[in-house]
Amino acid sequence: MVRPAGRRASALPPYARVVSRSFLAVGAALVALLVAGPAPVQDAAGLIGIVAALSAVWFGALRIAVPADRRPWVHMGVAGLLFLAGMIVRAAVPGAGESPPTIRSLWPDAFVVPGYLVMGYAFASMLRRRRADDDDPARSDALLVGAAAAFMAWTFVMSPTIDQSGGIDPIRVANAFFPVLDVVLLMLVVQLALAGGVRAPALWLLIAGSGTMLAGDLLFMLRDNEIADPSLTTINTLFTGAFLLFGAGTLHPSMRTLTEPQHVIVRTLGKPRMVAIALLVTVPVVVTTVQSMHGPLDGTVRAALCVLMIMAVLWRVVRSNDSRARAESAGRRRATHDALTDLPNRELLTETITAWGDRAAAEGQEISLLFIDLDRFKMINDHWGHRVGDELLCAVAGRLGAIVRGTDLVCRIGGDEFVIALASPSHTATAESLATRVLAEFGRPFELSVGSVVVSASIGVAKTGGGAQALELIRDADTAMNKVKGSGRNAYALFDSSLRDDVRDRLMLEQALRGALERGELYATYQPIVDLGTGEREGFETLMRWEHPELGAVSPLRFIPIAEETGLIVEAGAWLLRESVHQLAAWRAAAAPGSRPLHVSVNVSVRQLRDKALVGVVREVLAETGLPPGALWLEITESGVMEDLETALATLDELHALGVVMAVDDFGTGYSSLSYLNRLPVGVVKLDRSFVSQVGTGGSEEQIVRAVLALAGALGLRVVAEGVETEVQRDWLRDQGCELGQGWLFGKPLRAAAFTSA
Ligand code: C2E
Ligand code: CA
Ligand code: CA
Repeated sequence: MVRPAGRRASALPPYARVVSRSFLAVGAALVALLVAGPAPVQDAAGLIGIVAALSAVWFGALRIAVPADRRPWVHMGVAGLLFLAGMIVRAAVPGAGESPPTIRSLWPDAFVVPGYLVMGYAFASMLRRRRADDDDPARSDALLVGAAAAFMAWTFVMSPTIDQSGGIDPIRVANAFFPVLDVVLLMLVVQLALAGGVRAPALWLLIAGSGTMLAGDLLFMLRDNEIADPSLTTINTLFTGAFLLFGAGTLHPSMRTLTEPQHVIVRTLGKPRMVAIALLVTVPVVVTTVQSMHGPLDGTVRAALCVLMIMAVLWRVVRSNDSRARAESAGRRRATHDALTDLPNRELLTETITAWGDRAAAEGQEISLLFIDLDRFKMINDHWGHRVGDELLCAVAGRLGAIVRGTDLVCRIGGDEFVIALASPSHTATAESLATRVLAEFGRPFELSVGSVVVSASIGVAKTGGGAQALELIRDADTAMNKVKGSGRNAYALFDSSLRDDVRDRLMLEQALRGALERGELYATYQPIVDLGTGEREGFETLMRWEHPELGAVSPLRFIPIAEETGLIVEAGAWLLRESVHQLAAWRAAAAPGSRPLHVSVNVSVRQLRDKALVGVVREVLAETGLPPGALWLEITESGVMEDLETALATLDELHALGVVMAVDDFGTGYSSLSYLNRLPVGVVKLDRSFVSQVGTGGSEEQIVRAVLALAGALGLRVVAEGVETEVQRDWLRDQGCELGQGWLFGKPLRAAAFTSA
């Protein structure tokens, strides 16, 4: 039922892997040239590297990323462009980027600093999308890594460059700012890596890129401040390398995992991590004691960073306990609740019933279950799709929750199956009145995204005064619900033990029905259909009969549903169809010349419509007998067709193409009769007996029958009135223009021989 959100719908482009591999190869070659090539080649390689890396980032953002997750990657691309602009300014403006620094050397920073910020923003939004920022331990570990990196950068690079004697050189301070930005970036990527979820190559490439950039910035600063003198080529190689690593990370197909939500898996603190944390904390402390301070500022900053690290460790200990507890309760909730509606599921229901059971007996209470099943929910799914189906389920969940008492439990235990469990004093009829209220709730339409939708429900109620097992109680309520389904839906029924006998009888009948055809226990009866105007015989409806050696005659109302459910109807129906058509052929051959050509009308269940073989059987038997296809009518019920509209329509069209006549059986008992008549390839309507039995006495049903006759006339359909028992009914129907009739008045269903001799 629950469909995943469509965000991962778009497939990886087929060329993604090739592009990523080629880029890695080219990047490696460029780095090799940068490190070992002759000077002019080095410059060219650096330039090509940066352009290639930038193109890679943009290509990845626009082509590899899932459109919905594109933003962070576009930000990376923007950051890359800003860095590039900084480089161009540095190269183009005389004095920019010069060592020792002057005010002009700050010009490029107008681009580079925003570049860092945008990049940081990109990483932060990846964290958010991955839901990695929920992972507190990862956050504190990242903070620890950052603080330690900041400490080292400060002690060995920044502190020596800042004039300790008090006179602060703004340019030097500005330059010292870069490693700080680097540290922040590194912290963000490290958090990405430390939080739970997939750690894919793309992530490692981004981490390597950030680390390389940090190294480049540190060296650059050392050079600026004439503390050390790394060659410019080395620094450039590091920057180009960082660019290439970012490019490779963005191109790698696994980049998609960086923006996908990940499950936060809370792990216990692993050994390697513990060692790393210990090192991160101890090294700065040792350094502080060994390395002499440059002055009060140095001391203060080092102390502050050490304190920060200790706080991070403490925070981690506290929060990791919290988040484990949270993960455990989330896990428990997942196991006991339905994901779609967030209602308790079958597990929690059985637990609750069991828990209530002990108390109920002691306190004279009764536990009741309402087993609620939506009627024709499948049609809603087929009609509007699963999303709307889900919407409806949530709306139903909401309504049920709103009408129960706080102590009652509303659960969803299957697709469209809800259960309400309640405990109440045994002499009250709380469950019955709740069932009535639930049915009333379903009387109001549900407002869904496709408009208002009406759906009814069938409810089974089972009770126990304690003692009964939870599973038994659910099964009993289910049985009672099925009884409602069988007798017209949209009602509730109480379970009683006779229903259990019904279930047993049904199983027994099912056993007996298997092989009934082979044993010759099934036979056909024929009921005349007559012209109401002239009284002449027009044709017959074939009705199946089952005579069991011990059980006697079993009503089709009992065995046909079983045959449908078990699929036995496919074979039995095909047999009856052949039998009927051959019988009709025999009657036609024996008929007096000039008499009306008869037809035969055979019932076809949905199960048969779904079976591919039906069309073949019809074609075959028509060919065998040489009868005109119009002499065969097939009766289908509207609700049967609606249950599986697509398949049914396809079969009906094929049958229609053969020239067979389609008749809608039990017309008027469905719910959408009129709108569908037009869509089905139908030639005949059989007006249900429940209407016919009411006509001729001035009842209100007469209006409906008139309307149906008018509609059928307008659509050019022939009408058969079913169950005509009296002359009053016959005359009224004839006077209203109903062409055909069938019923005890004209003859009961009899074996073929009864008509042959007549
Ligand atoms: P149906 O298709 O609506 O068949 C008409 C039912 O009304 C038959 O019941 C028939 O005996 C009964 N009937 C006919 N005239 C009168 C009347 O004047 N008054 C009253 N009260 N009843 C009348 P039956 O034979 O018991 O069949 C019941 C249902 O079983 C049928 O309803 C049909 O849905 C199903 N059925 C019967 N034979 C077959 C079959 O071969 N295949 C399938 N798929 N279903 C069948
Ligand atoms: Ca019928
Ligand atoms: Ca009928």
